[in-house]
Formats: sequence, structure tokens, C-alpha cells
Amino acid sequence: MSAATANERTNLLGLPKAELEAFVAEMGSKPFRARQLMNWMYKRGEGDITAMTDLAKDFRAELVQRAEVAVPEIVRTQVASDGTRKWVLSAGGGQAFEMVYIPEEDRGTLCISSQVGCALDCSFCSTAQQGFNRNLTTAEIVGQVWLAHKILGGESGWQAGDNRIITNIVFMGMGEPLANFRAVVPAIRIFLDDLGFDISRRRVTLSTSGLVPQIYKLAEEVNCALAVSLHAPNDELRSQLVPINRKHNIAELLEACWHYLDEQNGRSVTFEYVMLDGINDQPEHARELAKLLRDKPAKLNLIPFNPYPGTPYRRSPYAAIEKFRDELMQRGLIVTIRKTRGDDIDAACGQLAGQVTDRTIVRLGSKTFGLQVRA
Ligand code: SAH
Repeated sequence: MSAATANERTNLLGLPKAELEAFVAEMGSKPFRARQLMNWMYKRGEGDITAMTDLAKDFRAELVQRAEVAVPEIVRTQVASDGTRKWVLSAGGGQAFEMVYIPEEDRGTLCISSQVGCALDCSFCSTAQQGFNRNLTTAEIVGQVWLAHKILGGESGWQAGDNRIITNIVFMGMGEPLANFRAVVPAIRIFLDDLGFDISRRRVTLSTSGLVPQIYKLAEEVNCALAVSLHAPNDELRSQLVPINRKHNIAELLEACWHYLDEQNGRSVTFEYVMLDGINDQPEHARELAKLLRDKPAKLNLIPFNPYPGTPYRRSPYAAIEKFRDELMQRGLIVTIRKTRGDDIDAACGQLAGQVTDRTIVRLGSKTFGLQVRA
């Protein structure tokens, strides 16, 4: 009998509870073993199967042969002057993706990626410029949160409950999460599961450019907060900025959003609106937008445009952004302006491009349990 290689081993990190139970059942074990494993991985941050001491010895020995807890390798870590951190993670084959941690007084938000690159071609987004490389796996998506917990926990170790460092997870890194539906949904299940990361459903936000059929599907599958990249108050302008609008227009998109809320008993959808100087930031745009969303369960989040090399767009002046907000608020809308964070390390919205400038990969983890973490 030959020993299983790392590639043949199942990554336990990508398995939601039901699948983990099926996995241990296949090994002839009881379902409670799945709970024990989740406890080790998500509550205690343990990545070494041999260290999971309350698992029966035989079971553990077999598990080491068949499974591992593997996370993406960190290629580079950067800390911005405002405390925002960005990690470049390896997707293998010289490709990379990014995650960003944004600390605030009352919360800590982890912004994760769902794909390497993106196929949607929004005209103002730097990720779009690199095109689409591949979907991330569930394990790579969950692995981001696991890694961030591990690193941010530092000496004090894993933190959960009231002391948790990551209070919010947003799919606002690289990629279109609804274009990677099959991997994203199980990841969300693990984020929400009380045996998993146990994050409340209102604190896990999926942001989409508007893949309408998948919004309907999502409503049937999981219960998390929804953010939608609107960026324009009419189809003509939106089709230029967010090309998927040519396939699914604003009316269809809004219909899908209200359906999502109905199904989920949700309170509101957050509409993201990037502020592009002279393009979509005029008072008439605000008035048109107000008509569209007035009396609807909607919140607006205005995002000052973050520039990147080669972009033809400029950020709207702050005064224009405030005026735009006031126009909307006067018409009864709930509006916030997103603080720009981490822009000195290109960690702000739309600046994630997976550049791999430093290809040195340092492995500190032990090969026996497949952990390759550089903390
Ligand atoms: N694909 C998802 C997640 C994208 S990133 C989506 O489209 O929603 C999260 C947000 O950042 C989106 O609203 C996106 O449109 C916005 N964004 C993209 N590029 C930006 C830029 N250069 N400046 C500011 N926001 C940007």
C-alpha cells in the first residue's frame, strides 16, 4: 500500500458539516467526529491533525493518511499606515490572489477573494484588467479566513466569541462570487455554522455585480447579507460601467434583490456606487437614483473611486460626493460614504490585482500536516 500524497488528501477546511460527516462516515466513524474536527479547526485554530488529541488514535492515524488542513501560501504581507493589512496569497503556477483586513474601533472586517482575476470587465476595476484566471476552491476561500484568524490572533492564539478579531466577512476582494457559486456557497455555510466560524448572517456579505439568475439561486441556498454593485442610475450608463447590465438590466436586478430579501427575511440590500468624477456623480444622477430606490429596502454605500495605473477615471472631489449624498438623503435614502482604507498599499476597493512582485515563498509549516503558513 502506498502512502497517499498531499494531492490525494482531502482538505478538511473546505467541507461544510454535512460533508465532513459523510467523510468520517466513509471512514467508518461516528458523526460526532465531524463535530470534533470542526471544533479543532475553527474554534481552536488547529491545523495539525496529529495534535487533535481527543480523536481516537486509530482514527487519527488513518485521518493523517487521508486528509489534511491546508491553506494558501502567503507570498507577501503589507501593512498600511492606517493599520489595514493586505496579504498576497499563492494560487499556484505563479498566480496570486489577495485578502485585506480592515480594523476599525467596533469591528474587524476581512475582505476576501473568490476568484483569481475576474471575467466581468467592469471598466473602473483593476482586477478586471488582468482578466480571469480561475475560480478559487472552497478550501482556498475558507483558508483565507482561517489564515487571517491565525495570524491576527498572534501570540494570544485563536480568538472567538466576544473577543473575535474578525467580526465581518465581505466578498469584496478579487472576483465575482456568484460566478463561482459552487465553491462560494459551502464557504458561506462554514462561516455561518456555529460549529464553524459562527459569524452572524448579517455580518457575512456577498457583493455581486448583478448575476441575476444566481441571486435567485443564492436565496434558496444560504442566508447572508447581499451587496450589489449598482454604480449607475440608468441602464445606458450602467451598461458602460458594468457590462453584465447588458444581459441583466437594472429592473431585473432590483426584482431579484427584493426577491432575495423576501426569501431570507432580510432587512435591506446594500447598493454600492463608485464615485467617478464627471461620469456618474452629478446631482441629476442622484435624483434618478433616488427615484429608483425610494421606499425600497435599500441602503446606499458611496465608494470614492480608487485609482490604479492606466485608468481613465478620476475620483469625484469630496465635495461632490457629499453633495451627492445630501441629494439622496433629502429624498429619504440611507446613505454612507465608504472610508478609503489601505490605499497606500493598493488594498482599497478595486485595487486588488494580484501582482506578485515578491515570489519568495517561505514555508514554516510542517509538511506532515500540509500547513504552509508564514505568519
Ligand atoms: N465582483 C463583486 C466584488 C467586487 S469588489 C462586485 O462586483 O460586487 C467590491 C466593490 O468595489 C464593488 O462594488 C466594485 O464595483 C468596487 N470597485 C471596483 N473597482 C473599484 C475602484 N477602482 N474604486 C472603488 N471601488 C471599486
